[in-house]
Parts: sequence; C-alpha cells; structure tokens
Amino acid sequence: MGEGTIKKLFVEKGFGFIARGVGEPDVFFHRSACASGEFERWGPKDTLEFEVVAGPRGPKALRVRRTAVAADLPRRFVNPYNFVRWLPEPTAGGAAATPLLGRCASPPQDRYTGLTGRILCRLAVASPTFVSDAYAVGVATVARGKEHRSYRQYRTPAGSPAIPGSTLRGVVRSVFEAVTNSCFAGIAADARHGGSASVGDLVPAHLGVCTSALRLCPACRAFGWVSEGPVPGHDAAVRGRVRFGDAVFGKEAVEKDQGPLTLAALSAPHPKYAWFYLMDADGNAPAGRSLEQAGYVRKNRIRGRKVYRRHEPDLQAMRGQSHTEQNRTLLDWLKRGAETRFEVRFESLAPLELGALLWALEPDGGCVHRLGYAKPLGFGCVAIEVTGLHLVTADRYDADASGGDWQSFGQHAPELAALRARFRAGMEERHASGSPPEEATPFATLANVRDLLALLSGTPPATPVCYPRLPGERGFEWFKRNADGARLTLPFADADEPALRL
Ligand SMILES: [Zn+2]
Repeated sequence: MGEGTIKKLFVEKGFGFIARGVGEPDVFFHRSACASGEFERWGPKDTLEFEVVAGPRGPKALRVRRTAVAADLPRRFVNPYNFVRWLPEPTAGGAAATPLLGRCASPPQDRYTGLTGRILCRLAVASPTFVSDAYAVGVATVARGKEHRSYRQYRTPAGSPAIPGSTLRGVVRSVFEAVTNSCFAGIAADARHGGSASVGDLVPAHLGVCTSALRLCPACRAFGWVSEGPVPGHDAAVRGRVRFGDAVFGKEAVEKDQGPLTLAALSAPHPKYAWFYLMDADGNAPAGRSLEQAGYVRKNRIRGRKVYRRHEPDLQAMRGQSHTEQNRTLLDWLKRGAETRFEVRFESLAPLELGALLWALEPDGGCVHRLGYAKPLGFGCVAIEVTGLHLVTADRYDADASGGDWQSFGQHAPELAALRARFRAGMEERHASGSPPEEATPFATLANVRDLLALLSGTPPATPVCYPRLPGERGFEWFKRNADGARLTLPFADADEPALRL
C-alpha cells in the first residue's frame, strides 16, 4: 500500500499525479481508480492511499482513497444547502408490517379514533432569525425606477415579536416528510428544466405527489392534503390532524441596537444545475458527466429534499453592504438566545404517528430547524424541545367539554420515549434491508436520517459555508464555470465535508 499527496490534478481530463517520498517517481492515477464521485472532490496536497502497479509509462495507482485533506480551508467551501435522500420502496414484508408509514386512508374526520391532545414545546433561537411582516416598512429609491426595501420582524396584532404557527408547521412538516419518507408534496410535478423529463418524472414512483384521499402518505395524512385536480367520487381535500400555535416572544427578544442590517443579495443557484439536484439510476451523484448524463432525463432521479445546513451568520461581514434593489434591509430580528413556548394540538393520531411528530419536532441529537429569511446566510436556526404531553383520556370523548380528563406526561416521562421508540422501530421494520424482514436496519443508519442529522445537528462545519464568492468575483461565477467545465457536484449530505474546491 502506497501513500502520497496529490501533486497535479486535471479535473476535466479525469486524472492526476501523486508525489511520494524523495527520489520516488510520481504515480499516475485515473478517475476510474477512485470510488464514484470522489475524484471530483479532491484537491492538490490531499493525502491519498493506493496500490501501485506498473503502467505503460511508469507507476500507476489503483484503488485510490483519500486519507487526509490538505490544510487549505480558505480555498474550499461548504454549500449552504444539500439534500436529504429518499429511501427506496420497502420490501413487501416491511410495507405490510408498518402500513401507517406507507399510503393509506386518513381516519374518519367526524370522530376521535386515536390519540388526541397537546404537545408543549420550548423554542430557543439558536442563530439570529427573521420572519418577515408581509409588507415592506421602508422603500427607498436607489436608482431610477429601482427601490430598496426594508422589513421588520413579524409581530402579533398586540405588538409582540413572534414566529407564526404556520411557519412552524411548515418547517416541522418538512422534517416529518423527510424522516417518514413521505411524498414529494412540494414539488412542481410538471416543471421542466430544459431536459426531456419533467421534475415530476424524476421523483421515484413510490414517492410521487399523493393523488387520492384513500392513499395518502404519512405527512399528507397528518398535516393535510389538497388534491391538485378534481377527484371524481372522492374527497378532494383532507383536513390535517395537527395544528400549531404561534411562538410569541417578549419585546426584549428582538435585536436592533446595532442598527439595521443589510443582507447580501440572496439569489440562489437555479435548479438547472442538474448535477447538484440529481443522481443517476445507480444512486451516484453525476459528477463530471456530460450534460445529457447529468441532466433532466428520465433515467436520473431527484436526489432528495433540499435542506439548508445549520451554520452561523457573520453579522459583522454583513454590515456595510450597500443598498440595492436586489438586497434587503432588516430593521430588527429575533436575537440568539431568545426563548419562548408554543403548543401543538393533535387529534386522532396513531401512537406511531405521534412518535413521528415528536421526532420531527425534536429530532435525535440536538437538531435545529431552519426557518424564515436568509437561511443561506445562516439566519433562522431554532431549537425545539418537547417539554410535555397532554392526552385526552377516552372518557373525555363522551363527556361534555367541562374538562379535567387529561393524562399529562413530563419531558422525561417514559411514555414520550416509548412513542419516539415506536416510530423508530417502525422505520427500522419498514426499511429492513434484508430478507427475512426481521433483519431490521438501525434507524440511525437510514440514509434520510443520516442526512437530516448531518445538516441540522451538531456544530457548524469548520470550512466556510457560502455560495462561492471571491474578492472581485461576481456571486455565482463559480457555478457558471462549473456549468461549463468540471461539473463538480455535491457529495451526499453526510459526507460533504471537507467541501468543494473554489
Ligand atoms: Zn403525500
């Protein structure tokens, strides 16, 4: 086994040379000697391990593997978003064992048939967070016909800063969708991006948007569903069984004492960068391939659900941005450390569904949720903690609403842990890799769970998280160069450090 560092790389040609010890000849290596998608991520001075064989023009490396990354962090970046992968269709045995994690009809809406109650939550702002009032409060003309807009943190009618329940519902639903492997509800199924296939064609068939009230995915059943078209003879909408209250803060939760903050313009790379958004039929990121191979063609698949990675905004660097018609000024925002409480009401949930909801509210491993404006810049990390659960007891269903018949569980009650465990066990059973299906796949090793935790938990990466911007370079020059040449792609979310090369 040899070891050396990358001396030269010819990314577009797909080969490079490795320097070894003094006096030893350089070793040639080709992309095909590296694991799929790896070659494109490597940079000069990275340390490699490999086997050496004699080639026609000198030593040649086989089975090349990177063991260390060169200490040139400023020349690398972590992309602000990545994707949470979807899971393949389960085996028949796994699907039969856990029908509630697949598609089925909602329970009747006119009576209680499952668990009903309230979840008590604490919410802590983990990075500056901004949810806008719907209207701009300041409009200044910056050039002929061009206006710069200023916004203010959302407030309740009584004037308290808040995160509306609809916003909380949206972010918790997106985690719920990802972790339960629900349908791709948010996708514009007929949108096209210049290729032969629509985006809907690239969603795997078993995760296509729900189209019948009789066959709804876990997320559409719990959070509600509206048909995209008429459904003869059946309901065209199903009411959600989960309702979110507002998270209302005290007045001291907003920060404005350092003056308004003007953010960098927030245009995002367009989904036409197919090699970021897609993977091929074998599940590989299509790096360095031709446009046809990497593009919106039927054999390719959507990688997963786009999620912004947890990181910290650099407020200091944001100050001094000039006002343009493209960027925005925030007059105030929720400051880091601000805390409040909110409630989630639910009705007629099966224990496994309630377990999934508890997991989506507070994923394992201390995750944050990403919400509001300027997520690519690190704004909008909030941590939710479930602090209690009240269940309505069966007697209450028959009684009048005089109340009192609640079962209450504290934050550390074994009943809460048991509900979460029930959900995890359900996922393990459904997505068991082997046959017979009792060979369960550990929950934490499922690709969607790994990706969610990689993006939302833990400490921010050491490498700068940014869309590539270099001094004197326009914002998305890197993406344009990439489109024309190397087609560097994102590694999967649980392996995307140490990042892409600038
Ligand atoms: Zn659905």
